[in-house]
Amino acid sequence: MSTPPEEGQLLHLLLKLMNAKRTMEIGVFTGYSLLCTALALPEDGKITAIDVDRKSFEIGLPFIQKAGVEKKIDFIESEALPVLDKMLQEGREEGSFDFAFVDSDKENYGEYHERLMKLVKIGGLIGYDNTLWFGTVVVPDCSSLPDDGRRLRDCLVNFNKFLASDPRVEISQICIGDGITLCRRLY
Ligand code: SAH
Ligand code: CA
Repeated sequence: MSTPPEEGQLLHLLLKLMNAKRTMEIGVFTGYSLLCTALALPEDGKITAIDVDRKSFEIGLPFIQKAGVEKKIDFIESEALPVLDKMLQEGREEGSFDFAFVDSDKENYGEYHERLMKLVKIGGLIGYDNTLWFGTVVVPDCSSLPDDGRRLRDCLVNFNKFLASDPRVEISQICIGDGITLCRRLY
């Protein structure tokens, strides 16, 4: 499920170009995209990394430690939505993130987007991963896909349509890995 290296490189470069300091990752798995992010942030950079599964994160943690970037990571073992809602309720984190990488449950991308439109600063960037869903988002007949694959494919088709017409962001859908849609918050 890890992001491929060429996408990790792209994220790393973007974060450096943006001078990103404070970021969020939703969906960590073994921490490959997290490591690419952590290596791009300055010494005092901070990543809030959320995943329901700490065990997978712990598989990659020794590599993160070896790279000397563990101190930049605040790992939260939880469903992501309640964490974002709590941040907004407490009102401390609005507009405080330079970047967010969303790579977890595809059916909730729309819900994350509404929260991130408040948590990521104006001019900040959000990356939604897997928006090409193995290329199936452009295949008209998906009857050969397994049920779950088709359901998630439909979620992503709808999400892509939604983003394309959301005036709050300007987007770029990039054909790298399984597709990443970059959104810059405009207001
Ligand atoms: N970003 C990682 C891959 C993430 S894979 C990389 O590129 O290396 C997707 C992850 O999302 C899985 O680890 C899964 O546990 C997590 N996930 C799924 N649903 C979630 C949810 N509702 N809240 C938080 N994490 C979730
Ligand atoms: Ca992914």
